[in-house]
Amino acid sequence: MNDCTSWREALDDAALGGALPEAVRLHLQTCGDCAAALEQRRTIVRGLDAVVGARANAQLPSDLRARVLARVQRESRRGSRMRVLWRPVAAALAVGFIVLVLVARTTFAPPRVTLQRDAAPLISWRSPTAALLQPVR
Ligand SMILES: [Zn+2]
Repeated sequence: MNDCTSWREALDDAALGGALPEAVRLHLQTCGDCAAALEQRRTIVRGLDAVVGARANAQLPSDLRARVLARVQRESRRGSRMRVLWRPVAAALAVGFIVLVLVARTTFAPPRVTLQRDAAPLISWRSPTAALLQPVR
């Protein structure tokens, strides 16, 4: 039995599709345990192949493509509808902001009339030396 453990790796390789070395082939002719172990490994590999193959080649539902496209179109319409709804809101906010700025400017503007009235004497003021610089007649 101890001799047989040295063949396990070769049996695994053979079960996975590898070549069966001549020494292993000769041993299998005389050892029933190793022949059974090889057959057991091959059965496991065939079962795994069947399961993996079935998963890999699974049929998709025939209406999957149509459902995905319909969902994408529905989501796209919903997004554009939201954009259409937000445009008037954004425009109203912009107009409201402009009106607010204009109202604030007229309400809180500095009193220009007072400044002009206060500045009027300064505008008409002439330096006394200006009269002295006039040519004598
Ligand atoms: Zn053996």
